[in-house]
Amino acid sequence: MGACNITVLLLVIMLWLPHGLSMGNSCSASVLEARRFFELENEQLRRRFHEEFLSGYNYNTNVTEANRQAMIEVYARNAELNKRLAQQIKASDYIQSEDADIRRQAEHLSKLGASALNADDYLALQNAISSMQTNYATVTVCSYTNRSDCSLALEPHIQERLSHSRDPAELAWYWREWHDKSGTPMRQNFAEYVRLTRKASQLNGHRSYADYWVQFYEDPDFERQLDATFKQLLPFYRQLHGYVRFRLRQHYGPDVMPAEGNIPISLLGNMWGQSWNELLDLFTPYPEKPFVDVKDEMEKQGYTVQKLFELGDQFFQSLGMRALPPSFWNLSVLTRPDDRQVVCHASAWDFYQDSDVRIKMCTEVDSHYFYVVHHELGHIQYYLQYEQQPAVYRGAPNPGFHEAVGDVIALSVMSAKHLKAIGLIENGRLDEKSRINQLFKQALSKIVFLPFGYAVDKYRYAVFRNELDESQWNCGFWQMRSEFGGVEPPVFPHRKGL
Ligand SMILES: [Zn+2]
Repeated sequence: MGACNITVLLLVIMLWLPHGLSMGNSCSASVLEARRFFELENEQLRRRFHEEFLSGYNYNTNVTEANRQAMIEVYARNAELNKRLAQQIKASDYIQSEDADIRRQAEHLSKLGASALNADDYLALQNAISSMQTNYATVTVCSYTNRSDCSLALEPHIQERLSHSRDPAELAWYWREWHDKSGTPMRQNFAEYVRLTRKASQLNGHRSYADYWVQFYEDPDFERQLDATFKQLLPFYRQLHGYVRFRLRQHYGPDVMPAEGNIPISLLGNMWGQSWNELLDLFTPYPEKPFVDVKDEMEKQGYTVQKLFELGDQFFQSLGMRALPPSFWNLSVLTRPDDRQVVCHASAWDFYQDSDVRIKMCTEVDSHYFYVVHHELGHIQYYLQYEQQPAVYRGAPNPGFHEAVGDVIALSVMSAKHLKAIGLIENGRLDEKSRINQLFKQALSKIVFLPFGYAVDKYRYAVFRNELDESQWNCGFWQMRSEFGGVEPPVFPHRKGL
């Protein structure tokens, strides 16, 4: 835990420093006036965020048409107010203020993104996005073994099959069914989304929406560094990929997994092939050193979802951080309700008021969710740590940072040392072979994710920049997944979907 403590301490220091250093010493009348202006506007912004996240949470925890409409109405109303504020700032001289903090707030609040659109276009954009969300949250597919049962949801039913079936035909069935139903009907909405974000970029003076996204990293060299980092990683990833392909061939035979070329994504235990650790039993380098199944131990000890979150809460408190407030326990949705549709994808929410932070996820008791619980609580703890900041600063310093906070914590929580400390395994010291098994498991999750994440961003940049013709949107994506990750759809070419 020592290393973890230092990391967390550094994070806290980093959070404090920028604001503390940027206050400046100026007390001129214009600076005082500007401070007053941003104080008032930040309070208004905080209220708008509060209202937006409340309506977004209502929709995400109860996916109905009425809640979708209510949410996009709030977004549209606030977009107009954000636009007005940005215009006011642009018409002032705040961006040239002698005070660094005022300059930074002014810059942030004048970046409009999609809010630059006119009211009709903005509403159309939100409609396209939320229609995709609704479809994603509610799509079900037919069972491979009983085609008249078409009630299988991604979480938990399809994921359970992807994790446990070893029948390539069944795996390909679920992959194709889910993509056909989640992707294909959304093509028009995606096209509308791309069209309107292009329009917003033009209004904001950006070359594309990709440039709008990338600017938040505040480094003109960001994309080149991203490419260079990925290139550095590739030789290692290729070894991992080659080893997994070899083990898949051993299991399935050369007809299903040839010696050369891409791996069919449906064989990898995850719908997007973004992590492969569900198939650990097929790949373990030293099978004679089996992993202790934490899930069995959790069941034996009577673990509940509530207990997983309590453990997470205690862990953060043991690092000297804040306890989860009572509202977290009362207002979060921690398991899948059976009386309504919810967006099951785990997410952590900040409501910008009275330390109101919540998690929405369809938690189950196993080691995967044990990890996710700590990851999500990382977001929550970060929200609580920066809640004193003005609304404009209540976020990560760049779009990648929030995810890193949760993962730093979650990685240390999954260590043998910690699992022993909380009584889930007996032996916290791993011998060499067990350690390699453990590191291999991490690689199947963390290293394997990188080509996936890289391809998704490169793909979106290419679409936003009009470098891919609309007729090539599907094919272009699979070319990138093939080139960067060495995986391909089980049905190739997968012409219909996105
Ligand atoms: Zn996250």
